[in-house]
Amino acid sequence: MKLAAFHQFETAVALLQRGMHVSIVSHITRINPKSLRSLVHEIHGKRPASGQITSTSGILRTRAAQASASVFAVLYRASAGSGIFEGIELTNLLAAYDRYLVLAGEITPPNTQRIPIDITQAWVIARDIQTGAAYFQACHHCHIDYLLADDSRTPPSCPICALNKQGAA
Ligand SMILES: [Zn+2]
Repeated sequence: MKLAAFHQFETAVALLQRGMHVSIVSHITRINPKSLRSLVHEIHGKRPASGQITSTSGILRTRAAQASASVFAVLYRASAGSGIFEGIELTNLLAAYDRYLVLAGEITPPNTQRIPIDITQAWVIARDIQTGAAYFQACHHCHIDYLLADDSRTPPSCPICALNKQGAA
């Protein structure tokens, strides 16, 4: 195995271990889906989950999901810097996602259902930040940056403030 091929394989394993959708792992690593599916079986002992690859606007369905996605997006930007607007920074994406999983529970306001985003959604968010379909907006009230997407169902305002208002009501 050539070194480059070895690195692609290593990347595939890191992504599949975190449960990323086979079609995206194949897109990233150029390893054929059939080999990836048997890898999934080896790693998780079951067949890969199927399902639709959505867009960021599809992920931001509720305030809680928007808050969760914003936490990930901010961690990703903190890890990768302005490089996220030029390409998908995979190493930073994985580091940010792992940090996100630890933090998500603590940042989500009480009394809200915790909806962690999965690694496939994290990649979709990174892709849409790069293309501009998803973007950051600063909240003048609580001073966090939150995520918005074109055609999103949630109102174009801060999810943290909206959740806090709901919690207080
Ligand atoms: Zn706010």
